[in-house]
Amino acid sequence: MPAPPRPSHTVPVEPLHLPDDGDAPLPEEHRPLSELTTLEVGGPARYVFTVLGPADVLHALQFARDRGLPHLVLGGGSNLLVADRGFPGVVLQMADYRLEVEEGEDDAVILTAGAGVPWDELVAFAVTEELAGIECLSGIPGTAGAAPIQNIGAYGQELSDTLLAVDALDVATHEIVRLSAEDCGLGYRSSHFKGAWRDRWVVLAIHLRLRARGAATVRYPELARAVGSDRPSLADVRRTVLAIRRRKAMVLDPRSPDRRSAGSFFVNPIVPPAQVEDLEAALGEEAATLPRYPQPDGRVKLSAAWLIERAGFERGFALGRAGLSSRHTLALINRGAARAEDLIALAALIRRSVHGHFGIILQPEPVFVGFDDGLDRLLPLPGVHALALTPPQEHR
Ligand SMILES: Cc1cc2nc3c(=O)[nH]c(=O)nc-3n(C[C@H](O)[C@H](O)[C@H](O)COP(=O)(O)OP(=O)(O)OC[C@H]3O[C@@H](n4cnc5c(N)ncnc54)[C@H](O)[C@@H]3O)c2cc1C
Repeated sequence: MPAPPRPSHTVPVEPLHLPDDGDAPLPEEHRPLSELTTLEVGGPARYVFTVLGPADVLHALQFARDRGLPHLVLGGGSNLLVADRGFPGVVLQMADYRLEVEEGEDDAVILTAGAGVPWDELVAFAVTEELAGIECLSGIPGTAGAAPIQNIGAYGQELSDTLLAVDALDVATHEIVRLSAEDCGLGYRSSHFKGAWRDRWVVLAIHLRLRARGAATVRYPELARAVGSDRPSLADVRRTVLAIRRRKAMVLDPRSPDRRSAGSFFVNPIVPPAQVEDLEAALGEEAATLPRYPQPDGRVKLSAAWLIERAGFERGFALGRAGLSSRHTLALINRGAARAEDLIALAALIRRSVHGHFGIILQPEPVFVGFDDGLDRLLPLPGVHALALTPPQEHR
């Protein structure tokens, strides 16, 4: 991957001072990461700091640097697969719950959220205040600070539609700057933060540009059918999205047997048109049912769920202690006492099968933490060169 451009619009945001010793937060030691992730797998973190703001971030980073340990920024743990041996470094659990509202030009309203604000609470607040732009992103677990990392998206909206800027602390220089949304390289479930900038920045806050009294976005066919109104309110859309997500077990529900997941485990593959033609030829008559979504760059997005089902995996499929959600083929779940190795075994089987049937390489969506091996070894594909397999999103 080519190096991302240097951020062009970096505005120093706030001077930082190390807290006095008396104020410095103390870390928890050996905290099981299975308690801090929605898949509920993963061994202990050596140290976990709860960080309330920039000074705490700086303190935790300095603590890690003094001991020569790696760091991991943690939000809600809803997009992480942590190894059974855990993470032998310093975890910064983001807990800055600041929320600020500022009038912008025309009908724009700038909503600023600290990294620890639960994403869905931010959406609920915006909908209540009649601020349009993120209503379709209702029900996505996790934190505001993690939202830019993979440019969260669902039901016809992406964070990139409304993200104005990100305040972030540079891990190397300890400078805090404002990065414009353009600089963050947001794409489909991706950004520079998840790619070449991995581990370089700690996101402290995000700034969204929303529209006061704006119309709700209803461009996703399934949402349009379900909402049942030509001019739904923001609240109608939020309610409908939450209902759809609940049916698919795509909200965090402590009573659901499918609750231990990281949401979609694989991203939808985006492939060149020639590969779609090969696939259609191989599928024969079944090609008519292949979902395909043309992209602005000429490539075609395919449905990972469709490919997985056609490769022989049904909802509710079980492999030992891991399985597929009974409501959604794309969600790998911990069926109870699963370990990371169980999830890896299932993910590897699915990836191998989809590749064997269709020649398509599925890439995992969650970030892998604490594994010795890269994805090419964890989820190997016979006959495929390792470089083709390893997306740049692993924390070792
Ligand atoms: C049931 C379910 C449904 C889901 N549905 C969707 C969906 O519809 N659309 C979608 O896009 N995602 C979805 N997800 C995935 C997940 O919720 C999002 O990716 C979310 O943004 C992750 O937030 P988090 O706070 O839990 O991040 P974590 O899992 O804690 O971290 C994810 C990554 O972000 C990094 N990170 C977190 N916070 C920061 C920060 N402040 N600064 C720098 N790096 C940081 C971490 O180091 C890690 O690399 C779903 C997950 C689940 C469990």
